[in-house]
Amino acid sequence: MELLSRRTILQSVGAFGAAATLRPDIAHAATHGAELFTSDEAGLLVDSVVVLGERGAVLIDAQFTAANAGLLADMIAATGRSLESIVITHMHPDHLLGLPILLDRFPAARAYAQADVQAVIAQVAAPMHAEIAGNAPAGVFADRVVVPEVLAADHLMLEGERIEILPPMAGDTALITPVHIPSLDTLVATDIAYVDTHLWMEEVAATDDIAPWRASVAALRAIGAGTVIPGHRKMGSPNDASVFDATLAYLDHWEQARAAAASAEEFRARLMAGTEDLGFAFAVDRGVAAAFPG
Ligand SMILES: [Zn+2]
Repeated sequence: MELLSRRTILQSVGAFGAAATLRPDIAHAATHGAELFTSDEAGLLVDSVVVLGERGAVLIDAQFTAANAGLLADMIAATGRSLESIVITHMHPDHLLGLPILLDRFPAARAYAQADVQAVIAQVAAPMHAEIAGNAPAGVFADRVVVPEVLAADHLMLEGERIEILPPMAGDTALITPVHIPSLDTLVATDIAYVDTHLWMEEVAATDDIAPWRASVAALRAIGAGTVIPGHRKMGSPNDASVFDATLAYLDHWEQARAAAASAEEFRARLMAGTEDLGFAFAVDRGVAAAFPG
């Protein structure tokens, strides 16, 4: 029952209450809501969200490895919904490279990204896939890469409900589009928020400017959504506004360790102190190397 252990029903009572208010004809709440898939550590503990209508579904982010994308496709198939759209929130491979697996399983679905995000993906996708898949055994990753279409509007509609693709903002990379689903009181923060994992700091470390990330956290928190889904977390970690606190705490920890460290070795040791239990440890060495290049 590995699949079942990886799915979490996002059924906050408030979310279903809001949906019932908007659509009083729907009496059975179990047919409306969202489901959450969290990858294993090999998939870098990435969250994907499946927003459910009565008949259709919209997926947010497409996973990293072929195995995790396949399990996600199984989960979507088990809902009985037809997958209409897939939104890719940013250019990172752990949210993008599983896309061909999902499109093979759901050929009627269309993949989208906001225009600025799509332009970055169009530029980096092929070399990124070649490097990552080329350095892994056959089958670990999809054998091709798909560039999403430009999403012309700032939202998608699913059976009368708005799925709002927010304007790009900075997090662990410069251009990220969180997704807000007002009818579910749910915000998909993607890689602006993390909980119980290390953060991907490589790009931020290169510029040494964390302020834009903090501003994005503040903007998302101000939305006030009851359910907040981070980009990375351990299975079973919280899905609420506490993910913002966890993110800011890690950024504080990073800046304090960075300010006190005179070498890469010292920085790494300070960073790991008290964070030994966090997932996504792969991110640490990459962040340290970016902070202390050469
Ligand atoms: Zn990510």
